[in-house]
Amino acid sequence: MPELPEVETVVVGLRPQITGAKLVSVSNSGKNLRYPLPDFSTLLQQSIQSVQRRAKYLLFHFENGQTLIWHLGMTGQFHVLRQDEAMAKHEHVTFMFTNDNTLRYRDTRRFGYAGLCHTNDLDQHPWFAKLGAEPLLDDFSGNYLHDTVKTRKTSIKQAIMDNHVVVGVGNIYASESLFRAGINPTQVANSLKPKQYALLVQHIKTVLAEAIEAGGSTISDFVKADGNPGYFAHSFKVYGRDKQPCLICKIPIEKVVLGSRASFFCPRCQPLK
Ligand SMILES: [Zn+2]
Repeated sequence: MPELPEVETVVVGLRPQITGAKLVSVSNSGKNLRYPLPDFSTLLQQSIQSVQRRAKYLLFHFENGQTLIWHLGMTGQFHVLRQDEAMAKHEHVTFMFTNDNTLRYRDTRRFGYAGLCHTNDLDQHPWFAKLGAEPLLDDFSGNYLHDTVKTRKTSIKQAIMDNHVVVGVGNIYASESLFRAGINPTQVANSLKPKQYALLVQHIKTVLAEAIEAGGSTISDFVKADGNPGYFAHSFKVYGRDKQPCLICKIPIEKVVLGSRASFFCPRCQPLK
């Protein structure tokens, strides 16, 4: 499933190709995605003013104050192609623009979904209303994390993977950030020292930024907007490395299951306090 870095990579790839483009028509395969597609007619003859991301949603802001919201589900991909390029297998929606380009949505498993919302009302939209902080923005700070988890008795790993706390910190990124911050994933969320919240936040930002820089993580179905797969796996320090030596202290990395997700950590570099 595309994670936040992959979605950010897609947004960055699409932005220069479709910003300013005016939509002339939309066609679809007739097959539903996870939910029925929205009525695109209000977007016709409107230009895309900007392309942004919130959590793992792509946001296409149109000039009439409407935003097309899109989630890639498990296997969704966007490609920008010329109009005369043939429709590929599993292509479900085609947006045609006046500049002769098309934006094509492919989705083998069809778990992706889309919706329309007034741009000004996005924060109240049911998909966004309860979301926590964006990890790469300044709002996500050590103080914010400390405040948000102060009543939580779950593990710190489960807390940072909770979308109500902060969005987009998937299993891989949570494991890697905790390792870098020297924090045990099983530590109770509200028991960290103030300094540790700040350190963890700093490492979450760095790990996500590195993954975006690398073009996202490793997902076989994931393809960037330019058609190339993203790579990040080579830089995992603990994720998927149980029983292998810690890259710092050489003792074996351990695996523990938290909230039904596998967590990887070094018991010496990430001592339980
Ligand atoms: Zn170690």
